Amino acid sequence: MPDLLIGGTWRAASDGATRQIRCPADGRPVATVDEATASDAVAAVVAARSAFDNGPWPRTPSPERAALLRRLADRLVEEKEDVARLEALDTGKRLLEARLDVDDVVSVFRHFADLAQSEAGRVVDTGDPDVVSRVVHEPVGVCTLITPWNYPLLQTSWKVAPALAAGNTFVLKPSELTPSTAIWLCRALAEEGLPAGVANLVLGAGDRVGPTLTEAPEVDLVSFTGGLVTGRGVMAAAAGTVKKVALELGGKNPNIVFADADLETALDMALTAVFLDSGQVCSAGARLIVEESIHDDFVDELVRRAGRIRLGGPFDEDAEAGPLISAAHRAKVEAYVAAGLAEGATLRVGGARPEGPTYDDGFYYLPTVLDRCAADMSCVQEESFGPVLTVETFTGEDAEALEQAAVSTANDTIYGLAGAVWTRDAGRAERVAAALRHGTVWINDYHPYVPQAEWGGYKQSGIGRELGLAGLDEYRETKHIWHRTRPEPQGWFDARRDA
Ligand code: NAD
Repeated sequence: MPDLLIGGTWRAASDGATRQIRCPADGRPVATVDEATASDAVAAVVAARSAFDNGPWPRTPSPERAALLRRLADRLVEEKEDVARLEALDTGKRLLEARLDVDDVVSVFRHFADLAQSEAGRVVDTGDPDVVSRVVHEPVGVCTLITPWNYPLLQTSWKVAPALAAGNTFVLKPSELTPSTAIWLCRALAEEGLPAGVANLVLGAGDRVGPTLTEAPEVDLVSFTGGLVTGRGVMAAAAGTVKKVALELGGKNPNIVFADADLETALDMALTAVFLDSGQVCSAGARLIVEESIHDDFVDELVRRAGRIRLGGPFDEDAEAGPLISAAHRAKVEAYVAAGLAEGATLRVGGARPEGPTYDDGFYYLPTVLDRCAADMSCVQEESFGPVLTVETFTGEDAEALEQAAVSTANDTIYGLAGAVWTRDAGRAERVAAALRHGTVWINDYHPYVPQAEWGGYKQSGIGRELGLAGLDEYRETKHIWHRTRPEPQGWFDARRDA
């Protein structure tokens, strides 16, 4: 069966092009998928426009839209193992993690199903008894949804679920490296009764189909998750027709450890913060900012544990982290580490590919710690999106100066996605959390999120929010309807002329 979904029909690419997907853990072929052309992208956008303007979905009552989202969630529960396998093979991540991702996706669909029914708008009291004034929500229209490869189905669900809950139609373009779960999702939505043309799926490289999907006048909103440089281009492409733009971009996320923290937990979680999924997490705590007085003991032990992390493929039950997504990405991480060393960072562990036949055909890279870094180094300012931790320290003559030093170091970045602070002093924790210019702040924890709470970035980490209530609002227009129930002439102009 072909893999492009356009106007309710599954099609091959108009030029017959395909792409082979290989597992990054061992290079084995896992799928061959159709690779869309720009004209396929145009057809998808036109189909989505027609389904929005003429089709039933935008006018479908919200309880029915919510019911479809719930059926999708139930189906995902039933097919969890199959979907997790697809994800693990495309990304190379451990099956265990892929299963957790599927659980998260189920929660996301249920969250937006609940919201779809609960947010009907509001009545405004104008003070005039002859006016009924209300604010209502309507779908934005046609949405282009572009997603990355690190959490393919999860990132997609953050967009597809609210887009459908609000009554939009969309063209989805997943990362060309990890298309399999997007194909599963679009098939499942069609089988659960989503009308033809509401969901359209375009597979392919960003430079081949991206410009069409972001520039087309038929598109009302572009929601993009990916890298900063690509995001800037998407924003510029959307500017020509002043589309709404939602961007979830990268991060260089500070993980601040004060000497008064529960240091055993902080150490354990500092490893999870950065090495989970081999650092290929937008919120990875890749920037350890530790109080100088505990630096030596803390970092020595962290380095020791990082050196023992076991790497392996999706089905290796002893593995604790997997490969990087591609040879090109590993080369980028290697160049990033080399630049850090050239700038004066101290390599404490890693900094190389693992050795042994298990790793020969995959894109593995060892967990790496670069110590004695400073905020002006490129390795501290740039996102590696790999298993690389940079270490900086802070000091202060008194408690206030200490906190200020930690905060100003953590805020010294163009990014602002997420960060954490570790301390047993509740007042300090709240002061630091309030001062951080980051969209998510964890206190004495790292990484958890819930679909009920907004996710997104300050500064160049993005525009807008996903999840929470704001994640639905991204996909809604707001209209004010003013209804005068007893209309009569005002006499503004005639009255003056008569006088
Ligand atoms: P990327 O920017 O290379 O690609 C993202 C998507 O954009 C892919 O689908 C790609 O094909 C597409 N694309 C590429 N060129 C395009 C163009 N000209 N027009 C339109 N689309 C185009 O990013 P990636 O390498 O897939 O993902 C990693 C990045 O994503 C990291 O920087 C990471 O921090 C970020 N990310 C952010 C979040 C978040 O919530 N903020 C979540 C996950 C990933």
